[in-house]
Amino acid sequence: MPDYSPLKAKFGDCCLFNEPAENFTTYRAGGRAEVIVKPACKEDLLWLFSWCRTNSAPLLVLGRGSNVLISDKGLPGVAVLTERLSAISISGGTVTAQAGVLWDEVARLTAENGLAGFEKTSGIPGSVGGAVRMNAGAFGQETFDRLASIEAFDAAGNTVKLLKRDIKFGYRRAEGLEGLILLSAVFELHAGEKPSLIQDRSCVLAAREARQPLDFPSAGSVFKRPPGDYASRLIDAAGLKGCKVGGAEVSAKHAGFIINSGGATASDIYALMGEVRARVKEKTGVELELEQILLGEF
Ligand SMILES: Cc1cc2nc3c(=O)[nH]c(=O)nc-3n(C[C@H](O)[C@H](O)[C@H](O)COP(=O)(O)OP(=O)(O)OC[C@H]3O[C@@H](n4cnc5c(N)ncnc54)[C@H](O)[C@@H]3O)c2cc1C
Repeated sequence: MPDYSPLKAKFGDCCLFNEPAENFTTYRAGGRAEVIVKPACKEDLLWLFSWCRTNSAPLLVLGRGSNVLISDKGLPGVAVLTERLSAISISGGTVTAQAGVLWDEVARLTAENGLAGFEKTSGIPGSVGGAVRMNAGAFGQETFDRLASIEAFDAAGNTVKLLKRDIKFGYRRAEGLEGLILLSAVFELHAGEKPSLIQDRSCVLAAREARQPLDFPSAGSVFKRPPGDYASRLIDAAGLKGCKVGGAEVSAKHAGFIINSGGATASDIYALMGEVRARVKEKTGVELELEQILLGEF
């Protein structure tokens, strides 16, 4: 195991050891990250990247941890949290946002500036990096609809710029980004009617509040939408609302969510994911595909 003290010396309070996943994931469950670092700028990130390579330390980048489940055995190596990479600018219809900007900030600012295209993605609780990586979306709009380009570090630490056409993307999928650390993204939006964009945003936020179990920790929809159907409909039809393993529970409010109803371990959540897949397959013949990302050993 490398000696991580140089990271503490460089990043001070922004370097944490043995941090429990409940502090940096929205499931508020799972094991500990060996080291967490929160770089403030691209140069910090490049320094960290090269330190990890020199010292053979694994490095993983996370945004808001809102689409991941971290094993109870924890995360070895360095987990980078991008929250301090939070610059955003708007010029005409062009929005440039660093990876750690909250996605909802992009949705809010664009609507308030009369730019159409992201208002329906309001309330997605991830970062710009996570939204690009997942091609996050809601109510018929998704990140790649307006993506122009991204800037990233590749595995050798070089800065690369990719245009939208360089990336194969689809429903909750962006291929070709594996192994890249996203630094920033540029989006091109078109002019819309500001009052109606703000109204759409309010309606979406209200719909989320009404339909989703936002008062419990979760990581949103557990499974992808199968072709022509909804995972939540199939899970409900299989009678699984309220089904529990330990502290993990299929939400009674929205069957597509697994919530941490109190003291859930990652193993509880993982076991419940398996139970749901098996029971839906048995009752409907449909094999649900996981949308959430499992990190560490399961
Ligand atoms: C209540 C709730 C509602 C949700 N609703 C929606 C919804 O409507 N639509 C939707 O699509 N999703 C939804 N989600 C899921 C989640 O918010 C999105 O997938 C979001 O885009 C994840 O962003 P994140 O920053 O949290 O990513 P994380 O969970 O931190 O990471 C996700 C993946 O992206 C990678 N990653 C993150 N940042 C970077 C980076 N800078 N460079 C390289 N890789 C990176 C990580 O390594 C990981 O593989 C919801 C989640 C919750 C809790």
